[in-house]
Amino acid sequence: MKCPYCKQDLVKGHIQTRGEVLKWLPYDRQISRFELRWKVRDEDIRLGDYKFWHGGDVDAYCCPNCHKIIIDYK
Ligand SMILES: [Zn+2]
Repeated sequence: MKCPYCKQDLVKGHIQTRGEVLKWLPYDRQISRFELRWKVRDEDIRLGDYKFWHGGDVDAYCCPNCHKIIIDYK
């Protein structure tokens, strides 16, 4: 896969958590300290897979040239 900004090859990797779901949030929303670690609200977007004992995991492509990470979230 090529970087859409600089057209160089992207490096495939992944982003993981230890126990929490990985999610995108609207800019004005903050995670409450009392929020369940697997909770994804309607306005949030879950990134990748979530397993209770392992956490969140999503494939991600890194451009070392542009310092950007590209994620397919479904
Ligand atoms: Zn790039």
